[in-house]
Amino acid sequence: MLILECPYCGVKAEETELHAGGEAHIKRFGPGSSDDDFETYLFQRENPMGVHFERWRHVNGCGKWFHAARSTTTLEVFGTYSAQTLAPPSDITDKITARLPGWSWRDLS
Ligand SMILES: [Zn+2]
Repeated sequence: MLILECPYCGVKAEETELHAGGEAHIKRFGPGSSDDDFETYLFQRENPMGVHFERWRHVNGCGKWFHAARSTTTLEVFGTYSAQTLAPPSDITDKITARLPGWSWRDLS
């Protein structure tokens, strides 16, 4: 069972108390953007085997959206943080790098 800590209310909740909202940190394109950019925004998602950044909502708690960094292969949770960020906080990326040397943000090779 996946357990995530809500960064707003501090509750450690099982995934049944939360709602998954897909990939985090998606660059959004709207009116005036090119067709290719808009298509990428709508349909292109990462599907990594390893570290993934996701949006979650604490539906049976405070109701707020937050981000989580976890491994898709081991379900290890590296941390959760506010959804109002453009990139993962350095304490979480440092934790991931310490656990998975050579890992880097947005490097999917
Ligand atoms: Zn909460």
